[in-house]
Amino acid sequence: MKVGVLALQGAVAEHIASIQSAGAEGVPVKHPEQLGEIDGLIIPGGESTTIGKLMRKYGFIEAITEFSHQGKPIFGTCAGLIVLAKGIEGEEEAHLGLMDITVSRNAFGRQRESFETDLEVKGLTEPLRAVFIRAPLITSVADGVEVLATYRDEIVTARQGHLLVSSFHPELTEDYSLHKYFVEMIQRSHVAVK
Ligand code: GLN
Repeated sequence: MKVGVLALQGAVAEHIASIQSAGAEGVPVKHPEQLGEIDGLIIPGGESTTIGKLMRKYGFIEAITEFSHQGKPIFGTCAGLIVLAKGIEGEEEAHLGLMDITVSRNAFGRQRESFETDLEVKGLTEPLRAVFIRAPLITSVADGVEVLATYRDEIVTARQGHLLVSSFHPELTEDYSLHKYFVEMIQRSHVAVK
């Protein structure tokens, strides 16, 4: 199984290493044509405005939208969560706008630009070490979106069918359980297609 990591900007190498540790092949995706060769896509953390601009410039908006419409799993982390969201507070336009959530960018404020915590995530057996860096929060979810984790009553992990998002950076620790969860989502989506 091949999992692509969108390689326009951000934490690409770390996600590839985590995906390999989770038992799948990780490949950097630099051209939209490569989406035809992968089973699932990770959109990494970084800076969402920059990632969004580069996605528009290189034709990724249409290509990833099509990929998603085929039911292929997508995992957005941090900035990747922001680009998947239908609504971004204070901004007129979404980037991909595929997931029925609204997000608030840099929602933890300057005092807490980055921090780590152990999170209980629905579907994982052990608490996950979560690294938050200028992290967004999910401020609302539509019906059909399942909340998988909260931090101080705020939503930080969610899933809508084949779409998975986390506010934090799961690729920056040696805990690969959320990557494994995503790999299992891809396996199940194959079963569903057959
Ligand atoms: N603050 C960044 C943004 O708004 C996201 C930060 C991250 O991906 N670590 O795009």
